[in-house]
Amino acid sequence: MATVYNPMPVAGATFSSKTYTDGSVPAKFDTFLYQPLDGRDQLKLVIKLRIQMRPLPQRMIPLVLDSDDNPFFTTPWTDATWRNFLHAVAGQADMWNNKFWLVPPPTFSDFDLSFPDSFPNQAWRPNVRCVLDVDLTATEDVHRTIDVANLDLRFLVGQTQNAGTFRSHAMLYDSLDAVPWAFPLGTGPGQPARHPVIAHEIGHAIGLGHIGTILKTPLCQHALNMENLGWDSFDPNTAGGRNSFNCYGVGQGIAIVGNIMGAGDAFTVDNARPWVWAMGYLRQRFETWTPVTADPGPGTWVKKS
Ligand SMILES: [Zn+2]
Repeated sequence: MATVYNPMPVAGATFSSKTYTDGSVPAKFDTFLYQPLDGRDQLKLVIKLRIQMRPLPQRMIPLVLDSDDNPFFTTPWTDATWRNFLHAVAGQADMWNNKFWLVPPPTFSDFDLSFPDSFPNQAWRPNVRCVLDVDLTATEDVHRTIDVANLDLRFLVGQTQNAGTFRSHAMLYDSLDAVPWAFPLGTGPGQPARHPVIAHEIGHAIGLGHIGTILKTPLCQHALNMENLGWDSFDPNTAGGRNSFNCYGVGQGIAIVGNIMGAGDAFTVDNARPWVWAMGYLRQRFETWTPVTADPGPGTWVKKS
């Protein structure tokens, strides 16, 4: 049975980071901690992202440039196509749910439950469920605004029509992003089969960098070093530094490139960091929270402190 939570959070904060430390990228979101209404059950840690998605209005000359400055023809959005797009975005955002839980550190005793009659020397300590809540129709106090171009598919004759056709960037998406990109790197062995571009972009919006920066892989480190020296553009694998093929994990095995923050669709414990950061923000102290990718159960019995 689904847990019923007290609608009033026990803690809340606006997380804001401008750095690239620990595999992060600058990001801003709200975070709230909720307690179950009764009984022994998990707490709920919500990352709330308010995104203002705007249908890009049709211009006099219906052209838009992608992040590589390639021109694409656009067509006006209709209510129905826009609704379908938002629905697909919500579906990809939801891929971040039911993936991560946090097991508390020994210092997290604030929500311990006591049962002095039956268990006098023990306390029960809840685990934490990680939730992502994305509001796509926010208009006020938004964390980011994204315009979306509706590509005119009639002008893409002879071109593949997938999320990689038009190179989106953080502020401008396109209608094809709603369709997960099949075999983004080709069909060779060890290549990811599909890449949900919007789920990847939402990973950036909650502060995650590319998988190579998260895992500090040697090849990504090399790309960052080359960028610092201004030499990254001499090698297509290092070009762009933290956004290079090297930092996407290309050629470094499916365990790396197949991650959602690489070019695939796998979620690993490394992708739980935003909730660990959020908890640190809410708690305002240094603690070691342990993210896990399987439901650890409602909580654990600990020795009463
Ligand atoms: Zn990215």
